[in-house]
Amino acid sequence: MGLLALRRYIPYMRPYLGLVIVFGLAQLGSLAAAASIPKVIQLIIDGPIAHHQLTELRPMAALLVLIGLLEFVLVYVRRTYSGTASLRMETDLRNDFYAHLQDLQVSFHDNWQSGQLLSRAISDIGTVRRFVSFGLIWFLQTVVTSAVVLVLMWSLDWKLAIVVAICMLPIVYFSNKFHSKYKLIARRLQDQQGDLTTVIEEMATGVRIIKAFGRMPLMQKRFEDQARLLRATSLQGIRARAILWTQINFLPNLSLVAVLLLGGFNVVQGSLTIGGLIAFMNYVFMLTWPMDAIGWVLAMSEECQTACERLNEVLDSRPEIADRPGARAMEKSRGRIEFRGVGFKYPKSDEWILRNLNLVVEPGETVGIVGRTGSGKTTLAYLLPRLYDVEEGQVLLDGVDVRDLHLRSLRSHIGVAFEDPILFSASVHENLVMGRPIVSDEELKRAIDVAQAGFVWDLPWGLETRVGEQGYTLSGGQRQRLALARAVLGSPPVLVLDDPLSSVDVHTEALIEESLASVLEGVTGLLVVHRPSTLALADRVALIDGGTVIATGTHTELMKSNDLYRALLSQEYEGVPLGSPR
Ligand code: ATP
Ligand code: MG
Repeated sequence: MGLLALRRYIPYMRPYLGLVIVFGLAQLGSLAAAASIPKVIQLIIDGPIAHHQLTELRPMAALLVLIGLLEFVLVYVRRTYSGTASLRMETDLRNDFYAHLQDLQVSFHDNWQSGQLLSRAISDIGTVRRFVSFGLIWFLQTVVTSAVVLVLMWSLDWKLAIVVAICMLPIVYFSNKFHSKYKLIARRLQDQQGDLTTVIEEMATGVRIIKAFGRMPLMQKRFEDQARLLRATSLQGIRARAILWTQINFLPNLSLVAVLLLGGFNVVQGSLTIGGLIAFMNYVFMLTWPMDAIGWVLAMSEECQTACERLNEVLDSRPEIADRPGARAMEKSRGRIEFRGVGFKYPKSDEWILRNLNLVVEPGETVGIVGRTGSGKTTLAYLLPRLYDVEEGQVLLDGVDVRDLHLRSLRSHIGVAFEDPILFSASVHENLVMGRPIVSDEELKRAIDVAQAGFVWDLPWGLETRVGEQGYTLSGGQRQRLALARAVLGSPPVLVLDDPLSSVDVHTEALIEESLASVLEGVTGLLVVHRPSTLALADRVALIDGGTVIATGTHTELMKSNDLYRALLSQEYEGVPLGSPR
């Protein structure tokens, strides 16, 4: 049950052991106070009341009030301390979960729906917290109360205590039945919540396309179907819990009848006092609440178990692209890139995207990558900063396999700008310095100039203007120029630019090319190119087809010697037979 699944998360409670101990002690204290009340009542009835000694009644009543007050205070302490400890634990766990998600390789995120990750990060971790702060306490309370009450009953009348215990035994059977049924329901429920989150998330990110294509009714239907599924599963859960509650709640009543009958008989026989019988019945009443709670605790523990399993699925995925043992840092890179016999397929796919690919880019050289759409140009660009690892062969930076370098060190030498210029919900400044936290104002200005991104100075708050989802909306070309500025910032020795000028007008393109040419002068560039104009930046061109480099040379050479190249970069593209795509 939930307790076992929680094992892995126990270290998260360790820093708050002090709090846990305080709340444990308060818990035991409040239990002792509650359990002593029937005993005092018995003493009052069998003592002052039975013997008509009213003078002794007052101090006894005062004792009762005192115990009640003590219980009140202890319950307050327990609640606040357990709440504090569990909230802190939840925060730590969520931080680690997020850090782990960031460590995981890109291919992990390719295969996981964001809604499923979102629901794990928010609702599953919340479920674990609720179990720790309420469920676990109620579980302990139930076990301890039942044990204490049974011992007290035993001390009063052991035969009656055995009768009560027997009446309670069916709990084991009912709980087991519930466990096997609710386990499946809880899992389905939490998965469906994740699916529902995905639908909302997709709608929010794709709202323009959805509206433009009039897909709203379809999306609405998808959402309603998903919501209906969730409702049906929730109903199954409610039904299962209701059945368990009914079954369990019946048991204390059953034992009450048994106690009344047998206890009454004992009183008549003289082996039990009336005060004893009342105390005994009070103990049975004390069992009612824990029995009530058992249903709740079991449901919560099942949900916690499922939540832990769902979290484990993510936390057990080890980052495949991480520092190898023995990996080292590279102080300064000359920027020599070599793809040696590279073969690559995307995880979970059998198709070789790149195979036997060889390409060397000498320090300071800029190589343009040309190939038909889908030929693997972007994929090749991903391999250098290790967003994916090669399946065969090696990618080398200054003759060192990139897998033998510290990731952080490797990536600090490479500036990247990919096809889709992603900006984050942060200021322009934060978006720019993302990769290089320490940059001077001059460097920043230079990067903005190179990318012809001077428009940032005219934004309402200049560099401090918030952009991205929750901020100022930039045009596609503006975003692309910011992404380019981000790539060249800090003058990394290697630049990987994937079609960096696709969204800017011809005039701006010419200006950027001019300034980029000077930036590329001293650095090694891997430049994915779609348009002939950008090729002016490349010293040499590599033509990719069928997953490999089929020709290299200057633009002029390839235009003369290679039909595919000529076709790709000329207006006649449509008319020329390009051979069968890979
Ligand atoms: P374009 O010129 O259109 O940008 P490209 O040459 O950059 O194309 P890639 O993006 O590298 O092409 O894609 C190469 C192949 O890999 C394509 O067939 C594509 O379907 C496949 N592919 C790309 N990304 C993934 C992925 N994450 N998982 C599986 N397959 C992928
Ligand atoms: Mg591409």
